[in-house]
Amino acid sequence: MKMVVTAGPTREPIDPVRFISNRSSGKMGYAVARAALRHGHDVVLISGPVCIAPPEGAKVVRVETAIQMMNAVMEHLQWCDALVMAAAVADWRPAQAASSKIKKRAGDLVLKLERNPDILAAVRGGKGGRTVVGFAAETHNLLLEAKRKLELKGLDLVVANNVLESGSGFDVDTNKVTLIDACGEIVDLPLMTKDDVAERIVEWIERRRRISRGGKFAGSGTSP
Ligand code: C5P
Repeated sequence: MKMVVTAGPTREPIDPVRFISNRSSGKMGYAVARAALRHGHDVVLISGPVCIAPPEGAKVVRVETAIQMMNAVMEHLQWCDALVMAAAVADWRPAQAASSKIKKRAGDLVLKLERNPDILAAVRGGKGGRTVVGFAAETHNLLLEAKRKLELKGLDLVVANNVLESGSGFDVDTNKVTLIDACGEIVDLPLMTKDDVAERIVEWIERRRRISRGGKFAGSGTSP
């Protein structure tokens, strides 16, 4: 398989020295890339700024902003069979990034933020027979929110995790996730390492594409 995996946060510049970002470490996405490589797949890893060594054998595309990440995903979409969007894309960016450092002065600074494009929404039209996996990091109503995302973003699989649960979510080596697919199948996984979660995601994609090729899958995506 040819797989595109996104990982890490995006950084949205306020000025040349400041930015808005989030707490994503990139660990989950990098684990997915490593698992895909172990399974013999070709991997393009589109990565926001993280402190993790690039997985050997992957083509790594480094980006900073959500718009750069979207451009990189769209550039590689036609090439791939499966896309795993593990990146924590910033939802908003400063409406105007100053070209020089904003000088400190008395009083408050008001920033106007504008919405970033939703990458998965942009992918939807060109999805074709590709398998698309998204993540839902939530702090409440986990399953409900995850199912809403599955439908809204036209995903084949959503990986739902409660980021408030201990050992789960941002910047830890373990994760407690629930896999929800477009057929309504729900698999509640126990707390496990991100490498093991990644293994399960890659296995799910492989199984889904095998069934798809056999014409027995009744999911939302079109068969390849
Ligand atoms: O809507 P929310 O950000 O919670 O959805 C999470 C999923 O959507 C993740 O798979 C993330 O990579 C993806 N996403 C995206 N573009 C955005 C925001 C999130 O593709 N602008």
